[in-house]
Amino acid sequence: MKAESNREPVKVLDKGFVRLVDFMGGDQGVVDAARVSYGGASKGAEADRKLIGYLLKHSHMTPFEHAVFKFHVSAPIFVARQWFRHRFAAYNEVSFRYTEVKDYFYMPERWRGQDKKNKQGSSAAPELDQDALHGLFRTQVDGALAAYKKMLGMGVAREMARMVLPVNLYTEFYWTVNARSLMNFVALRADAHAQLEIQAYGEALARQFKDLMPWTYEAFLRDGWRGENPTIAAEKAALPSLQTAAK
Ligand SMILES: Cc1cc2nc3c(=O)[nH]c(=O)nc-3n(C[C@H](O)[C@H](O)[C@H](O)COP(=O)(O)OP(=O)(O)OC[C@H]3O[C@@H](n4cnc5c(N)ncnc54)[C@H](O)[C@@H]3O)c2cc1C
Repeated sequence: MKAESNREPVKVLDKGFVRLVDFMGGDQGVVDAARVSYGGASKGAEADRKLIGYLLKHSHMTPFEHAVFKFHVSAPIFVARQWFRHRFAAYNEVSFRYTEVKDYFYMPERWRGQDKKNKQGSSAAPELDQDALHGLFRTQVDGALAAYKKMLGMGVAREMARMVLPVNLYTEFYWTVNARSLMNFVALRADAHAQLEIQAYGEALARQFKDLMPWTYEAFLRDGWRGENPTIAAEKAALPSLQTAAK
């Protein structure tokens, strides 16, 4: 039996993480998949890198489906709800019908106000009373957890008692996703228009993507990324000019 990846989990938010469990294909897998269609062999690293740039620039996306990541993710339920909208991936999630919920809730560092321009968004709001909000929230979360435990003690099934719990409870899931779908995820969720909490996961995934598939990440920055994110924008600005060559 193959051992799981021994990569350290990357911490996200206060208690969450993204941990790479397995990885297949990589940049070379993309190149091999593209070249198989005409029976061609690799013409060296530089030509392969340019080929990846060419594929992405011209929306030849299927070769990117041959590189696959398997992640173990811990995220608050409200983040997971947004995450699970990404249909091109495989998911398996912990069941709170089987397992008892622990005191494992996301506690935001700072409360944000409603954004004035983006109706869905939030922004820093210095006028908010952070201490009062933290206190209010803690009381609510503690109360919900106490009610949950009390209901279990009274004989209620886990699948019903969980109904009193808030959506900042952390859940865990396995997420197997190919590089094409991962790029779509990063493009949408590392972008400033996504909720800040899922942005943190989008950025953590972008880092792992860059680490494991540097050629594809570079091509993604050049021709796939149209969002707003200061770190990614700086990386994009720092890219050397490149003449992508056709295969
Ligand atoms: C900032 C932001 C705000 C959002 N707000 C809302 C909201 O208010 N309400 C809401 O419901 N959702 C919202 N979403 C979720 C969004 O609509 C998508 O469901 C989510 O981002 C997944 O994207 P996707 O469909 O591209 O990904 P995937 O489901 O992984 O699909 C990948 C790609 O496959 C193709 N595809 C998948 N399924 C089909 C299909 N049935 N037909 C044709 N092509 C398909 C598309 O090209 C798609 O881009 C929001 C997302 C973001 C980033």
